[in-house]
Amino acid sequence: MHTEYCLKGKVALITGAAGALGAHFSRSLGLAGAALILAGRRYEPLEQLSQALRSEEIESLPVQMDVTDPDSVRAAFEQGQSAYGAINVVICNAGIAVNKKSLDVAADEWARVVDVNLKGSWLVCAEAGRRLVEARRPGSIITISSILGHRVAGAVLPYTASKAAVEQMTRALALEWARYGIRVNALAPGYIETDLNREFFQTRAGEALIQRIPQRRLGRPEDLDGALLLLASDASSYMTGSSIVVDGGHLQSSL
Ligand code: NAD
Repeated sequence: MHTEYCLKGKVALITGAAGALGAHFSRSLGLAGAALILAGRRYEPLEQLSQALRSEEIESLPVQMDVTDPDSVRAAFEQGQSAYGAINVVICNAGIAVNKKSLDVAADEWARVVDVNLKGSWLVCAEAGRRLVEARRPGSIITISSILGHRVAGAVLPYTASKAAVEQMTRALALEWARYGIRVNALAPGYIETDLNREFFQTRAGEALIQRIPQRRLGRPEDLDGALLLLASDASSYMTGSSIVVDGGHLQSSL
């Protein structure tokens, strides 16, 4: 591996770490040399992930964190920092969606999606930023957005609105924190095949969607590794406020 992409000596915190992409991101960052803080709402799946990573000689600490709760976010950073020292790579990956036509979305469903995807990402960025500024240390924060932060689709209104807001938040934080050496960039995946959506993509609607992706295939979690390691490492030291789209060309096609 090019030494610039190496994450040895870095401490990375991943939210929603036990989820499909979260677990993949964790492993990729760990294999590149980072010590990991695996954050999520439920402890057990994090502990299982941590054990699996240990068998690959990846060091990790599972910590409970609800990204919508500032006290929980603070406590998880505190725990992670006590174990491994200053956290200098943060992946804001926790996210949820409600798949309903706009007129069917209830107010509490809207609030839940925006709370996790937008407020949650902000709380985690703010906690990371505050600590890095106080410690006068540089860092890299990556928000996990989506192509739906760049374009729209049917029946995902709260999700697409929240991801567009995450893109804008990423740029605003990048602007404010560049002077402290804190970089904030977005990674915007297209449709990535995971255990959660595999069944849908085998349906007629799912297959039709794949045909609208210029590369005519879904993304694989490992397709995100290049952008992830670029943004997490010093190889991107002159990048901040960017959004890297990894989508097989989907943004360029009609819906
Ligand atoms: P996933 O459901 O497998 O993972 C999401 C994780 O977030 C879960 O572990 C969940 O428990 C966690 N989470 C939810 N609410 C939380 C909270 N309040 N506090 C802490 N953790 C919480 O989904 P995924 O496909 O792995 O998606 C991960 C991220 O990637 C999301 O932000 C999603 O929007 C984004 N994304 C996914 C795709 C895709 O095709 N899979 C495409 C574009 C963007």
